[in-house]
Amino acid sequence: MTLVTGIFVVLFGLALGSFLNVCIARLPRHRSIVRPGSACPNCGAQIRASDNLPLVSFAVLSGRCRACRWRIPWRYPAVEAATAALFLLAYLRYGLTLAGVGTAILSFLLLGLAAMDAETMRLPDTFTITGILLGIAWRGVIPAGTRVAHLANAADALVYALCAALLIWLIRWFYYVLRHREGMGLGDAKLLAMIAAWLGPALTGLTFVLGTFAAAVFGIALAARSRRSPDQTRLPFGSFLCAAALYALFAGQTVVHWYAGFFQ
Ligand SMILES: [Zn+2]
Repeated sequence: MTLVTGIFVVLFGLALGSFLNVCIARLPRHRSIVRPGSACPNCGAQIRASDNLPLVSFAVLSGRCRACRWRIPWRYPAVEAATAALFLLAYLRYGLTLAGVGTAILSFLLLGLAAMDAETMRLPDTFTITGILLGIAWRGVIPAGTRVAHLANAADALVYALCAALLIWLIRWFYYVLRHREGMGLGDAKLLAMIAAWLGPALTGLTFVLGTFAAAVFGIALAARSRRSPDQTRLPFGSFLCAAALYALFAGQTVVHWYAGFFQ
């Protein structure tokens, strides 16, 4: 673990954060993330490579498009900085290991999904379904000893994902029977399935409890401010699940051990 590698990890995180911004802007609108190249969402002007540097360009251009002076949303530098910070955190925790790479991949997916749900109330399959498959694959390749143990780990991840999706689907169904309208979306089911494939049952349970609690507190506060009933306030529940999953990913083991300590 060296300073040079750390700097490289941060630069790599900034570059992937820049790519993540493109995914966030285009995937929920069913547009290609490959073509066309980067363009201003307001005036459509092509963005030259020198104006497309993470963080630096935002600072140099004072947060405005060079062509039309449109104010670039804060989400762009925020996602770039957050991706770099999460990658660095993964590196500091695990080094350049499979665990470190997995932590970085899951962080990337969670950050992107949180932003997409907050902006558009959508959780694209390109991230959730791909995330489930990557989670199962990752569980299958982490050191396990025998070939059978590798397969068993991957099978476990698949079962966890199915159980998590079933849980959200059941809650959705009960909610529909009681209230005759839709609460959580199918996107939330796929999101929790992805989290379960990567994190396993204990940390997924923690994610679900924390995410639901945070969303409830936020929803009640928002409803109080806008003087509407909490029922009419639509929240990006997926964003809360993603934030809780990021917490569980980096700090969850401590919480789970503390909680399990009560039953010993
Ligand atoms: Zn522009």
